[in-house]
Amino acid sequence: MAGGTKRDYYEVLGIQKGASDDDVKRAYRKLAMKYHPDRAGDGEKSEAEGKFKEAAEAYEVLSDAHKRQRYDQFGHQGVGSAHDFQHMNVEDIFSMFNLDELFGGGFGGRGRQRSGGPTRGYDLETQVELTLQEVSTGCEKTIEFEKRDHCTKCGGSGAKPGSKPMACPQCGGAGQVAQVGFGGMFRMVTTCPNCRGRGQVIKEHCGNCGGTGKLLVKRKVSVKVPPGVHDGMALRVQGEGEAGEMGGPSGDLHCYLQVKANSIFTRHNNDLVCQVPITFTQAALGARFEVPTLKGKEMLEIPSGSQHGEVIKLKGEGLPDLRSGRRGDQLVQVLIEVPKKLTEKQKELLKQFATTEDEALMPQRKGFMDKLKSAIKGD
Ligand SMILES: [Zn+2]
Ligand SMILES: [Zn+2]
Repeated sequence: MAGGTKRDYYEVLGIQKGASDDDVKRAYRKLAMKYHPDRAGDGEKSEAEGKFKEAAEAYEVLSDAHKRQRYDQFGHQGVGSAHDFQHMNVEDIFSMFNLDELFGGGFGGRGRQRSGGPTRGYDLETQVELTLQEVSTGCEKTIEFEKRDHCTKCGGSGAKPGSKPMACPQCGGAGQVAQVGFGGMFRMVTTCPNCRGRGQVIKEHCGNCGGTGKLLVKRKVSVKVPPGVHDGMALRVQGEGEAGEMGGPSGDLHCYLQVKANSIFTRHNNDLVCQVPITFTQAALGARFEVPTLKGKEMLEIPSGSQHGEVIKLKGEGLPDLRSGRRGDQLVQVLIEVPKKLTEKQKELLKQFATTEDEALMPQRKGFMDKLKSAIKGD
């Protein structure tokens, strides 16, 4: 995009300004997968390639703390890109960003041969839903999905069992043909349209797959999810992507983890936060009662004089850390509720109580009254 107007990098990646490094990575991975020219249809290749490069440029800046800061401050002028992505080869961009790491291992960017030769199959993506309990203990999930795999009848050749593919008559098995253009001024070598670069054609098609060598099959795989995973992480199952071409290896299956919302707990890193309503007498006098935890129940002790919104910690009742296994805490926030209705007897008791109230012992009210007094005095 040299010289032209550039889109805002955050807009390109579809993220907010304050997005975390993980968000940046995730957004880019998504776009790179979506716009990889190998995946685009023939008519969309150049548009996809442009978008792929635009995303790469945005990622180069936003994934680097220093460049990102300069970009936030000065916009595009602050970060003259070191690379002219629009004139770079897609494969080079792939190896530059170590997309292997980003995609959890070979998206097929490297070592991929364009026409005819063995090609690695496409990676597949799937979502796996987890409960907080499953995050806490780790679990094994069965994933069902569909993929294009080698036809079992013809072993992926596409030829009718017993028959063999024959050398392509148009290119003589080379997979490429020369075309002469502009009245003989140019000789262009292109992929053979008859065999699409394979060098072979099938005379008698396999009836099972219609000659494509591939079939849509249902797969069931089991995936081990370790304890402490986070929403948006991906687990890679090697070789469970789509089948490769011409004997190339299969792609991988990427399982994106989605942690379901829980009605009681909200997750903050490895801590679990919950809110518990208590009565004002429990808050004033102190109380002991059971609260739910992920493992069951735990006795909670509320000290006398607890204030609205105060947080009581249940140590080690949170989620395990993915790496260290050390558990976070459960944080219980108490919310003091005032009864909506009182009996005559209760009113009487509270009126009596009110005559004994000491403002000096009410932290918020004391502060408020002090402010009010100084406001009236005018200082
Ligand atoms: Zn051919
Ligand atoms: Zn077949």
